[in-house]
Amino acid sequence: MLRLDFEVQYVKGVGPRRSSLLRSRGIRTVQDLLLHIPKSYQDRANFVPLSSLRIGQDAAVHARVYRSRLIQTRTRGRILDVIVTDSSSFVHVKWFHGGYLQTRDFNAGREVVLFGRVDFDRVESKFVFFNPEFELLDEGEESSPSLDIGRYVPVYEEIAGITSRQLRHIIAAALADLAKDVDDPLPDEIRRTHGFPDLSTSFHRVHFPDQSDDLAKLNQRQSPYHRRLIFEEFFLLELIFALRRVQNRTVRGVQFQTSELARRQVKMILPFHPTSAQKRALKEIVDDLKMSYPMIRLLQGDVGSGKTIVAFEAIVIAVSNGYQAALMAPTEILAEQHYLNAKRILSVLDYRIAVIRRSIKKTDKQELLGKIASGEIQVVIGTHALIEENAVFKRLGLVIIDEQHRFGVVQRLQLMAKGESPNTLVMTATPIPRTLAMTLYGDLDLSVIDQMPPGRSPIKTVHVVDRDADRVYRTIAGELERGRQAYVVYPVIEESEKVDLKSATEGFKKLSEIFKGRRVALLHGRLKSDEKERTMSAFASGQIDVLVSTTVIEVGVDVPNATEMLIEHAERFGLAQLHQLRGRVGRGTHQSLCILMTPSRLNDVARQRIQAMVSTTDGFRLAEVDLQLRGPGEMAGTRQSGIPEFRVANLMTDGELLSLAQKEAQRWVDRSEERERLIEALSARTRFVAVG
Ligand code: ADP
Ligand code: MG
Repeated sequence: MLRLDFEVQYVKGVGPRRSSLLRSRGIRTVQDLLLHIPKSYQDRANFVPLSSLRIGQDAAVHARVYRSRLIQTRTRGRILDVIVTDSSSFVHVKWFHGGYLQTRDFNAGREVVLFGRVDFDRVESKFVFFNPEFELLDEGEESSPSLDIGRYVPVYEEIAGITSRQLRHIIAAALADLAKDVDDPLPDEIRRTHGFPDLSTSFHRVHFPDQSDDLAKLNQRQSPYHRRLIFEEFFLLELIFALRRVQNRTVRGVQFQTSELARRQVKMILPFHPTSAQKRALKEIVDDLKMSYPMIRLLQGDVGSGKTIVAFEAIVIAVSNGYQAALMAPTEILAEQHYLNAKRILSVLDYRIAVIRRSIKKTDKQELLGKIASGEIQVVIGTHALIEENAVFKRLGLVIIDEQHRFGVVQRLQLMAKGESPNTLVMTATPIPRTLAMTLYGDLDLSVIDQMPPGRSPIKTVHVVDRDADRVYRTIAGELERGRQAYVVYPVIEESEKVDLKSATEGFKKLSEIFKGRRVALLHGRLKSDEKERTMSAFASGQIDVLVSTTVIEVGVDVPNATEMLIEHAERFGLAQLHQLRGRVGRGTHQSLCILMTPSRLNDVARQRIQAMVSTTDGFRLAEVDLQLRGPGEMAGTRQSGIPEFRVANLMTDGELLSLAQKEAQRWVDRSEERERLIEALSARTRFVAVG
């Protein structure tokens, strides 16, 4: 009897060689093997006789090789041309290929199953299959034809050279020997409520469905067996998150009061009426702050939705309770901007605010660190220097991390460790789809700002090719004429021999010529901190008209009078980056324009990215496109951030089951008597390669 956690080498037909091949692909146990689910299913119960094939039909046929030959063509390389027969008729099969098929595999008499679309060969005026899927039935040592024909047959992705058919036989052997009483980690009640089959049934039928199962659903991974396996995978992950959230509630954190005075002070700092989304976010934050356990909350809101002011409101509550607050930003430019804003906005309250700069003099730094340690400084702003400088706080009560996606989870935890379970607010505009957010930040509570401040008109976005540059410059000149400002972004600081790209340095020279009489400035990461600051604040105060820059301005920078964003080599940037860059404009009431400039020749993916940018300004929509174009693992900066690699589930298509799993997991964890059992089940059965 096999158990799910047995090593895969105990499965019949898996010798030492195959087990090491399987292991090299992460398949170690019987369970891993069974989670290698079919990529598709073929109806081989109803083979179509060759004599009744119709053009355009997708058909499975069962035949023998009659004759095969290789044809060398001038234009299409080698073609393997095979004629097969099933006693009712003959049909041609042609594979265009790079030479991996051999005539000797198709000796006369070999039994073969073909699956593909029936076509008509006009040259020979015959029916033909072009490049069909095929399977040689008398290949290798396995001989159990009932697995391969006469039923819905699973087709597998090959694993390290182990063919689909071989896998089918191995998996069948594993299922045949599988213990009858496999533990099902899904609680009965959940299975009953949602009509999920049990684990053993699901494994059997997902690999070898019945004729009564719905073939189309199977092929869409929507059969009850698929749904159950997908749900289980999500459920186990969401349980971990739900448990973390519950455990977090048992920690004693810093508890704030919201006195009448605190309320008044929060109102005093507001330079404008908050949107109702901002109000709702603040309320959720305040509710957390009043609790005895520490807040761990993610504030998500698209670029320009106004997260900063909400953060400042939270800071006021912390400081009015006698605590210190720390605000960490991913770039020096952004940290400086927050510092200036904080000084301006919080000035009515006379807060003592400091920024930690990397380029600070040693003695000044000592003094600053001293004031943080003594509690004299109430609000500290900085980049990750905040962590590195070993700042010790007297009473750190609130940690805010802006543009969280630029930091790793580790940095988040490091900063939190500087206080005794301080309240933590992480903010992000990363357009990440909800499904990804749930798997990345599932241990955080979530607030969403889903509304833009009033008076904004949507940013217009256009795609322009390089040769139209002059027209673009005229457009920008017109806006400058009206008193607006512009950003021009380049992918690199300097020209290099390795890549043929326009650079910020060259661009700066060129644009200084083109916009003669205007104030043009250059900004990039290699400039000294104070130089960056000076340039940035000159731009913010309108003393610079055109800011030529690299992506150092990508996140956070807020200059409402800037209305033009020209991105050179837009094809070089990812979607998330383009969206962030575009978010630098459209921050005031003036109509803004984002110009994506590219060479005229683009590859497919770049073209789709640009098209997506032109067609929508909705960050979440873009995130979904990004997810489709790149896959979850490659979404901006998330590769190392611990997205679990799902074996059955697919974040792009299974969002609905993910939400369901989250709801059920939370409900389950809230019933404390079940918690122990679940933790036990979890530790035995976690199926993820990595969990955040
Ligand atoms: P982000 O969410 O991208 O960090 P910011 O907090 O920088 O956005 O806000 C973008 C701009 O919108 C800023 O200039 C800010 O002052 C302004 N703003 C934010 N909220 C409002 C509001 N409720 N009414 C008017 N302007 C607002
Ligand atoms: Mg921001």
